Amino acid sequence: MSKNLTTRSEDYSKWYNELVVKADLAENSGVRGCMVIKPYGYAIWEKMQAELDRMFKETGHSNAYFPLFVPKSMFEAEEKNAEGFAKECAIVTHYRLKNDPNKPGKLMVDANAKLEEELIVRPTSEAIIWSTYKNWIQSYRDLPLLINQWANVVRWEMRTRLFLRTAEFLWQEGHTAHATKAEAIEESKKMMDVYADFVQNFMAIPVIKGLKTETERFAGAEETYCIEALMQDGKALQAGTSHFLGQNFAKAFDVKFANQEGKQEYVWGTSWGVSTRLMGALVMTHSDDNGLVLPPNLAPIQVVIVPIFKTVDEFERISTVAHDLVSQLKKLGISVKFDNRNTQKPGFKFAEWELKGVPIRIAIGPKDLENGTFEIARRDNLTKEVVSVSAIDLYVATLLKEIQKDLFDKALQFRDNHITEVNTFEEFRDVLENKTGFISAHWDGTVETEEKIKELTKATIRCIPLSQEKVNGKCVFSGEKSTGRVLFAKAY
Ligand code: AMP
Repeated sequence: MSKNLTTRSEDYSKWYNELVVKADLAENSGVRGCMVIKPYGYAIWEKMQAELDRMFKETGHSNAYFPLFVPKSMFEAEEKNAEGFAKECAIVTHYRLKNDPNKPGKLMVDANAKLEEELIVRPTSEAIIWSTYKNWIQSYRDLPLLINQWANVVRWEMRTRLFLRTAEFLWQEGHTAHATKAEAIEESKKMMDVYADFVQNFMAIPVIKGLKTETERFAGAEETYCIEALMQDGKALQAGTSHFLGQNFAKAFDVKFANQEGKQEYVWGTSWGVSTRLMGALVMTHSDDNGLVLPPNLAPIQVVIVPIFKTVDEFERISTVAHDLVSQLKKLGISVKFDNRNTQKPGFKFAEWELKGVPIRIAIGPKDLENGTFEIARRDNLTKEVVSVSAIDLYVATLLKEIQKDLFDKALQFRDNHITEVNTFEEFRDVLENKTGFISAHWDGTVETEEKIKELTKATIRCIPLSQEKVNGKCVFSGEKSTGRVLFAKAY
């Protein structure tokens, strides 16, 4: 098959869009800003969901489901949250259509079916959930309340891109309620850690844990913790967020509990989410000019077996060996496909599975039958070897682990090579123009400086890293006092 992919160096953004479509992950739909996730892409998303869901449950959370619509007055209750999302809301005003008397076959909104109160399609669910929590929480015995929801949300984004930024997206949103401030802060940090663990160990994408600045913080939160990743074009991507909500939503929705002394107190809250944006991060971190590269943990097919034959007899003998291998690998929990289509040539199959990022390809030909060998090709580094081992199943299982680790190490090396410390604004601009990536620089802590830098360079503060020590310095822009370096970058 011919792939005809634009290369990354030609046009990174075009490469990404073409790859997402050609590898059958997703495509644009007839609805502005909304995508269709295709079966192959959805299978990867399901693997992410399954692992995250397991991790949420292991940390004590339960799933529930809340409505898609939020009445406007409910949405308005937490003012900062409402104001923050107001510009990107889809609003339902009517509940019926009727035939248009002037245009046969066309429908029009029935003016008599206007809703008394508009409904907002949730851009996030704090409002509907906290209005419910009011009924669920009375006493300290009801706390902590640890709930997660798998859902779709709508944010009317102006510039959309497959997976990275869509008007409707799939995500999970955790919403928890606690008796104390300390416990809520601990929960928000814990969920940031869960996200970092998942993204690094499952998706093989290194991340930096940090705090958002006031301007980048979630509307209605006291503090936003985040994980930031770096894509191959040197742009940053916010991969997940976890918010400490203080008592903001509890006060807005009057959610109080009787403490152990019987005194009424407002509840403390958190919320946290990751979305289908992670699919974009996956593609942009590992893939190459030949197509997708998938970490074994997320690959819907981890191993593909391709027979190379001329005669029916050869095909039958290879099939026997292949079927045996399939059952051995399945026993080890490896997902494997024997591509025995007789409608396509091996070269076509090789290209197709390369494009789709299958981590290991095993080819079996007549020579292999004679010698008891297998040709094993790795998708990540495109190496091939002919192996002759008694325990091929264990060999493959070990190789899958090695590939998972190598992908992370490679991405980590790239990321670490793209963090540059600068001390002057000239250096700052130079890195943005010539090297890209994260820029570690002192910042005076003011919104003005942050905005001025953004205006001049398009780079924003991605996070205040949690791992670094406090070191005094001078702001790279204003020269004012700074207590630590922050990470700037151009971002998706
Ligand atoms: P937030 O509720 O704004 O903190 O976002 C929660 C998660 O959803 C973050 O990981 C964001 O990166 C992601 N996200 C925000 N907006 C979009 C969008 N338009 N499309 C896909 N993912 C998004």
